[in-house]
Amino acid sequence: MARGLVVSACALAVTFCAVPAASGVQPRTEPDPCAPAAARVAGGPASALFDRLGRDRSDLEPDEVVRLLDDLRAALRDRYGTDDETRLDGRLRRAAPITVPVRFHVLHSGADGRLTRAEVDRQIATLTTAYRSTDVTFRLDSVDYTDNDAWYRDPERYERTLKRRLRQGGAETLNLYTAAVGADVLGFSSFPQQYRQDPVLDGVVVDHRSLPGGAYQNFDLGYTAVHETGHWLGLFHTFENGCTAPGDGIDDTPYEAGPAQGCPEGRDTCPQPGADPVHNFMDYSHDACMREFTAGQGLRVRAAWAAYRAPAAEGRRTTLAAVAAHSVVPSR
Ligand SMILES: [Zn+2]
Repeated sequence: MARGLVVSACALAVTFCAVPAASGVQPRTEPDPCAPAAARVAGGPASALFDRLGRDRSDLEPDEVVRLLDDLRAALRDRYGTDDETRLDGRLRRAAPITVPVRFHVLHSGADGRLTRAEVDRQIATLTTAYRSTDVTFRLDSVDYTDNDAWYRDPERYERTLKRRLRQGGAETLNLYTAAVGADVLGFSSFPQQYRQDPVLDGVVVDHRSLPGGAYQNFDLGYTAVHETGHWLGLFHTFENGCTAPGDGIDDTPYEAGPAQGCPEGRDTCPQPGADPVHNFMDYSHDACMREFTAGQGLRVRAAWAAYRAPAAEGRRTTLAAVAAHSVVPSR
């Protein structure tokens, strides 16, 4: 989940989402009513990278956001003959509902991190419920278990190795890994624009303690996976670029100067209209504070899916006419 700090390595790098300070992430068995507000943890690979890149709060520089958005528009034009997301959306939604096949990979060390099937099922159900407004559903196709202490304890370090071994499916398949992601991050994800260049790394990694009923206080409803999957589906943080255009590139998410922590209801940090979208899944708020994607985010998710992940879009240009021809609903 994008709480605290997000880092992008290189131009289109994996997005890391920071976990609050240890004091803000108490194991459920040791509740601390005096725990201070969430804060970033210093150190760790994400922080080191963050420092090296000199970035603050926003994970992507404005030109990187523009480049990713330009790439999306180019991909849409190439495959559908138009980059008009709204026009495309009407046709595509009738033609092919989006069901994301999920390959769930549980990394564990003995009993540590070894999720039950029921816990996995609850995470998939949480994804489907959270994405209901976007018309995206998730279907669990497989669960596998890998008992590997090194991979479990440092999935960032062994990311390419473990993904090369475990990853399944094509661009349309969400490979969701759980592990002890670390002291400073709750999860990390790739963007769909990266798939062509590096399909092995495509996927989402989250800390197993962030799943529904997990041990991370305030981050235990499974919304870390919801948030990271948002990146996988092409969404940026709501506070991307702060109060500066293009923000997160979504019209109906108000500008926000920086990530929300906790649940600062009514916060308004930018001069543009609208209070901060602290309830949005793509902010950094506590799980209990998160509850929505906007219509604009739904539109973007479906456009990015059509551009990069829809099986029909792979390998050939699909015109709007072709889409309409395959629609079960007659097109106008
Ligand atoms: Zn994030």
